[in-house]
Amino acid sequence: MNFTETDEQQALRAAVADLAGKYGYAYFTRQARSGGRLTELWHEAAKLGFIGVNLPEEYGGGGAGMYELAIVLEELAAAGCGLLMMVVSPAICGTIIARFGTDEQKEHWLPKIASGSSIMAFGITEPDAGSNSHKLTTVATRDGDTWVLNGRKIYISGVDEAEAVLIVGRTADAKTGKLRPALFVVPTDTPGFTFEPIEMDILMPEKQYLLFLDDVRLPATALVGEESAAMLQLFAGLNPERIMASAMANGSSRYALDKAVGYARERTVWNVPIGAHQGLAHPLAQVKIELELARLMMQKAATLYDAGDDMAAGETANMAKYAAAEASVRTVDQAIQSLGGSSMTAEFGLAAMLANVRTTRIAPVSREMILNFVAQYSLGLPKSY
Ligand SMILES: Cc1cc2nc3c(=O)[nH]c(=O)nc-3n(C[C@H](O)[C@H](O)[C@H](O)COP(=O)(O)OP(=O)(O)OC[C@H]3O[C@@H](n4cnc5c(N)ncnc54)[C@H](O)[C@@H]3O)c2cc1C
Repeated sequence: MNFTETDEQQALRAAVADLAGKYGYAYFTRQARSGGRLTELWHEAAKLGFIGVNLPEEYGGGGAGMYELAIVLEELAAAGCGLLMMVVSPAICGTIIARFGTDEQKEHWLPKIASGSSIMAFGITEPDAGSNSHKLTTVATRDGDTWVLNGRKIYISGVDEAEAVLIVGRTADAKTGKLRPALFVVPTDTPGFTFEPIEMDILMPEKQYLLFLDDVRLPATALVGEESAAMLQLFAGLNPERIMASAMANGSSRYALDKAVGYARERTVWNVPIGAHQGLAHPLAQVKIELELARLMMQKAATLYDAGDDMAAGETANMAKYAAAEASVRTVDQAIQSLGGSSMTAEFGLAAMLANVRTTRIAPVSREMILNFVAQYSLGLPKSY
């Protein structure tokens, strides 16, 4: 067991931090407030090979792993400019296609995802299924050589920026009972596929959408992997999702803690800087510990995932996401407390950041569903639902 990152990993961290420093939280909030996107940062990061660092070299990726992709997102978020679509495009969709796609799908999609020239969104959540993916009602029916998809999806991020969405549905044969998911690549310009933005109350450049799939006709080649074995394929993508959500939350925690500590070192309202008061110093020390524990679990999850141990990675990725979400909510909240009134100004933007990190407790999987998972699979407790 080695807790020291390799020279390459450290160099990657430093290079991403360099790039992120040119953009920062001011860029992120400016784009979010003006309805803009993070396109410039996305393309610059892609040009430097950061967006596709986890994808196979033969398809234009960096040939590294989820650990390295998590480094990229953590460093961007630590500068205040995390790229949400990295959780979706290279981590979930890129991984699923690289591991289970046909040669044709790999050749068509991976170079574009790796180079960042194309973004693939991911749609699993449905209005009436929510956390219960066994209730998914998006159905794919075979019609000769084609598939016809019908259904609804909700809160799908970045559809406006995407060339396609990887849709999780089920085949008509598996319409009821336990979920046997089937994954389809749906280009966003396919007839019958429409989407509308949801008015969200969070300050994020990436928007969320309601998707309507009405008789969306797709070629047979749109199905990714096996029709009957897609549960394994889905989880192969959801573990990276959880690792990347952790990376983003941990990066945000680092950003907020850094701001709080900088402020607490300087700001003096009695005869010592406010950081000397244990009422502020201890909670900041506490969240530092929680953040480092969360990072350690994220690194363990990514290491297990890259070693090919999907089962162990599943448990640790869930725990890592739980820990990162909890740590980020407490860290940003404590940063707000440390800055006093300044924290509520647009200049610092910490109030807005609290809502963003708070989202990590809900998405991509809620804290309660992780606790259910740990209770049942790690502890062997009976299920209530
Ligand atoms: C900003 C944002 C971006 C998102 N992006 C995407 C995306 O790109 N693609 C995508 O597919 N989805 C996306 N989502 C959706 C997200 O994954 C879901 O919101 C999340 O999985 C929770 O589902 P829900 O909102 O339907 O909550 P519900 O399932 O309705 O749950 C509501 C509450 O009940 C609790 N609950 C439910 N069942 C149980 C149980 N058995 N035991 C205990 N508690 C329970 C939940 O934990 C939660 O607290 C996004 C959401 C947000 C907010």
